[in-house]
Amino acid sequence: MTAIATNTLESINPATGEVVGTVPLTPADEISAIVSKATVAQHDWNALGLEGRLRLMRPIADRLIEVAPEIGRLITSEMGKSTPEAQGEATYGASKFESELVSAFEAFQPEEMADEHTRSILYRDALGVSAAITPWNFPMLMPQQCILPSLMAGNCVIFKPSEETPLVGQAYADVLNEFLPEGVLQIVHGADDQGKALVASDINLVAFTGSREVGAKILTACGPDLKRVVLELGGKDALIVLEDADIDAAASLQNSFRNSGQVCVSTERIYVEDSIADDFENLVVEKTKEWKQGDPTDETVKIGPMVSSMQRDIVLAQLKQALKDGAVLRCGGETKDNYIEPTVLTGCSHDMQIMHDETFGPICCIQRFTGDEEAVALANETPYGLGGAVYGETQHAMNVARQLTPGMVGINKGCGGSEGTPWVGACQSGYGYHSGRDGHRQFTQVRVVSIPIHEMKPNY
Ligand code: NAD
Repeated sequence: MTAIATNTLESINPATGEVVGTVPLTPADEISAIVSKATVAQHDWNALGLEGRLRLMRPIADRLIEVAPEIGRLITSEMGKSTPEAQGEATYGASKFESELVSAFEAFQPEEMADEHTRSILYRDALGVSAAITPWNFPMLMPQQCILPSLMAGNCVIFKPSEETPLVGQAYADVLNEFLPEGVLQIVHGADDQGKALVASDINLVAFTGSREVGAKILTACGPDLKRVVLELGGKDALIVLEDADIDAAASLQNSFRNSGQVCVSTERIYVEDSIADDFENLVVEKTKEWKQGDPTDETVKIGPMVSSMQRDIVLAQLKQALKDGAVLRCGGETKDNYIEPTVLTGCSHDMQIMHDETFGPICCIQRFTGDEEAVALANETPYGLGGAVYGETQHAMNVARQLTPGMVGINKGCGGSEGTPWVGACQSGYGYHSGRDGHRQFTQVRVVSIPIHEMKPNY
């Protein structure tokens, strides 16, 4: 939670209301000078070459591992993420830093293609200066996914962390800046005014992770200058539970409550085959009651508060409307301070707004269907397309999964792919994507240089 004063951003612990710390607010009219500094620094940074940048950035991994517990504690105090999840985010991010660097290094290697007449070399060059504008729900991982490949590609980065989590953003940037040359990674603190000024400035790429609404604004703002964008946006993920599913496993996915439901690939809609619905719904309710909620610094607690009173109110308004429209409250629904109990609603239908808008809170909505065709139609009736899951006999579930529109679908598991696969938002959940070889390459400009095949092969 934050309070914005004239010159400072105050970070407030959503569990206690205490001030965690402050950062200076970056005046929006100073952003063009920050961009100029990055443009100057980018020349030498790019000239280091891929090997030079890899050598320089590799030691960051060990340092991140050292500070991960402290960053984890900061994540808990700034945004209320439970201790196991916050420590997990920081430790996972730190442990992946080196392998992601190497993966980007490999993705950016020049590539040769030839036919009988021509030898061509595909270079993946830097774009110049990029912005990394990120949300609060994974305040270390989301920045890392936007910053690391961009730096490896030879871009300089201007990083604007969410105004809800400026201290985690600052701590992360400070670690990188122990190793990076001056001006290669700079930080801008603030909210939408600073975001807008950064997008409007003389930069070459905006790597944004956040809501669909802000993503659309950024795309529009980048239009006149045809600035490159990579937008990873919100979701409204569906879980389909087929008649032949292991219902205990499906009810155990419990992807609706992690981080108090404040996860882009949270399961916000569950569609269950009518014939198994009673048993499945009872199981979900039973398992939901096992989630321990409370002080996020208590290591036995699984979910803490919402990030802010504003986010809490958005979720409660959706819940209230759904109940008014006829949804059945099966458990949860209570609220105190910034906490919302893990909540299960059954009897949901697409006449209810809660089945369409991203909720971003600990509310699991269940609707019944009859037959695969109806399940597919319901799951696809959304402008979003981030993740999804299908539980059922493997081939049956695969047949259903291939008819779904999201960029990532899990079968008898969550939507996350194996090592090296990109993180893909399809439809209005993304515009471009990141991670993996193909994701890393979106931070580069491809250039093709060709020579007659009979001429000597030059050094690249
Ligand atoms: P948000 O869109 O409100 O804000 C994201 C960032 O954009 C913040 O840093 C904010 O200050 C900045 N911003 C706001 N208005 C701006 C503007 N006009 N121009 C430029 N920058 C601006 O999102 P949030 O509330 O911080 O995060 C939650 C959203 O992020 C959810 O929709 C969630 O699904 C999404 N998300 C998506 C992914 C993914 O991988 N697809 C991952 C995490 C979060």
